[in-house]
Amino acid sequence: MCGVVGIYAPGRDAARLAFFALYALQHRGQESAGIAAADGGAIRSHKAMGLLGAIFDEAILSELSGPIAVGHTRYSTSGSSIVVNAQPLLERSELGDFAFAHNGNLTNTQTLRETLSPQVVLQASSDSEVLAKMLVERSGSLVERTAHVLEVARGAYSVVLCTGDELYAFRDPWGVRPLALGALDEGGYVVASESCALGTIGARFVREIEPGEILRIGEHGIESRRVIDDDKPPALCMFEYIYFARPDSQFAGRSVYMARYAMGQALAREHPVEADVVMAVPDSAVPAGIGYAAQSGLPYVEGLIKNRYIGRTFISPDQQMRSRGVQLKFNPLVENLRDQRVVVVDDSIVRGTTTPRIVSLLREAGAREVHLRISAPPITHPCYLGVDMATYDELIAANKSVEEIRAHTRADSLGYLSLAALIAATSRRREEMCLGCLTGTYPSKPEAATVK
Ligand code: AMP
Repeated sequence: MCGVVGIYAPGRDAARLAFFALYALQHRGQESAGIAAADGGAIRSHKAMGLLGAIFDEAILSELSGPIAVGHTRYSTSGSSIVVNAQPLLERSELGDFAFAHNGNLTNTQTLRETLSPQVVLQASSDSEVLAKMLVERSGSLVERTAHVLEVARGAYSVVLCTGDELYAFRDPWGVRPLALGALDEGGYVVASESCALGTIGARFVREIEPGEILRIGEHGIESRRVIDDDKPPALCMFEYIYFARPDSQFAGRSVYMARYAMGQALAREHPVEADVVMAVPDSAVPAGIGYAAQSGLPYVEGLIKNRYIGRTFISPDQQMRSRGVQLKFNPLVENLRDQRVVVVDDSIVRGTTTPRIVSLLREAGAREVHLRISAPPITHPCYLGVDMATYDELIAANKSVEEIRAHTRADSLGYLSLAALIAATSRRREEMCLGCLTGTYPSKPEAATVK
């Protein structure tokens, strides 16, 4: 879980564009962020822990001059949450310096690490640095080095990289994490994890970067090379559709909003219930909630108001506050809940900590019945490819039946969307998706030692 952005904008301040594009990707990671900018020669960078708005100000951005930039916002899934693991990483190579930003998780980090020469010192503890060092150590042009990485590195990696005068982007052969290409009207290009970041800075969506594709952008224009392997069919992460991506992003020509709306409609068909109102747990389940309401003919209401500013706080609540948990984040709207039979749509149950608290919050606010509807199937397997999920021990659906989960949440009823309906809602073919967390079949499994 991370957001990456790359900017090539002749005559403009790329760092400023990167900042606003990253702002649109803040949902992909709130732990640390950074931007590196190149002005034809030197690369300057700034990165720190925390949210984007707290890290950058006018003075810092002005220091990051130049028409090329890469940026990153991080949520750690590999490596600890400390500033040396913040990205972009700056690397020195015989081809010149480059700045590197990665979204995803490798599954063969240990093997790749062993291919590096012994004198390579790794500063960071993340798999991203291993990828960057492979580019440093290889010979040939940067495109040739990247082609080698695409052949040997397994797992998820959407990467943007800038040298002093060029921007590069590449995506693993499965295309697990998204990566979109946009064009600036004034000339130049933008690469971003999600298409929602493009409009923010006045860029037009051009296309997705293909799985296994390398882009090189510079004075000569844009150049593409595809390292294709027929053994590796595309496998975009289904959890991007379920929860992670912003609804105003699009994958394969379909907006995430419309996919989630269709998931809600299908959920209403598969799990109808006698009720008075439909609500969703904000924000990620709202499109599915609206879809459920439309299909069922029940009115859609807001039942919980989410505090948009709580985000990730580094100040721990005291014990009494923690036990009430979700109240820091959600406030119930009593007027919409009192004496109502409520359908509550949420996008997923992962560990099963949040949902029982939401159910009791709604009951305390006066709901007469609470019918839980989940717009995805049970999450029964961990993610090894970049989503911070949980281990088998922690995943409630890996250990309990649907009826046991219902009892745990104390809802009156519980219904999950079927896998077939979920896939249909995305308009993609089953073979084109990574369904690892739902089926246990992964495009690439980690080396044995890291399976939990
Ligand atoms: P829980 O079952 O307590 O682990 O939390 C499930 C809730 O967290 C759902 O409402 C999801 O919308 C949300 N959620 C799902 N996956 C994640 C994730 N990787 N990080 C943060 N929140 C998530």
